[in-house]
Amino acid sequence: MPNSEPYQPDNIFARILRGELPAHKVYEDDVALAFLDIMPQSDGHTLVIPKLQARGLLDMPVDAWGPYMARVQTVAAAVKKGMDADGLTLRQYEGAAGGQTVFHLHFHILPRWEGVGLRRHGDAMEKDEVLKAHAAKIRAAF
Ligand code: AMP
Repeated sequence: MPNSEPYQPDNIFARILRGELPAHKVYEDDVALAFLDIMPQSDGHTLVIPKLQARGLLDMPVDAWGPYMARVQTVAAAVKKGMDADGLTLRQYEGAAGGQTVFHLHFHILPRWEGVGLRRHGDAMEKDEVLKAHAAKIRAAF
């Protein structure tokens, strides 16, 4: 069952897709775009968004999941390798009550290291030069 709210084409991620806002991009093809979260919960925190317009998981056409999740997997592998992480946590928040703040479907890929906790969701903005350095490491790991 789709979300009841319509897709809003002026959401932040739609604007990044259209090149109207900057992003530290790590991967792009005809299906998906991946870029660093500006308020990372762990170093190298990456978001993967589909290019088609879907507010969330419930709006994604069934046939689109395979190609999209294949990109999530590809990006996850590069994030883990590039950030030299011990593991990963993947998250997807659905709807405002579920914690979603940007209404274009995205999976969070969070690099994890043994004994290191996550920072809070959407808590603190990272310095641009730090994001730039992490994006370069991840891009080099594809
Ligand atoms: P969610 O709460 O699951 O909708 O996640 C939205 C995420 O987008 C949060 O983790 C924000 O830190 C992140 N975010 C918001 N604006 C931007 C932006 N301009 N570029 C990159 N990440 C962003």
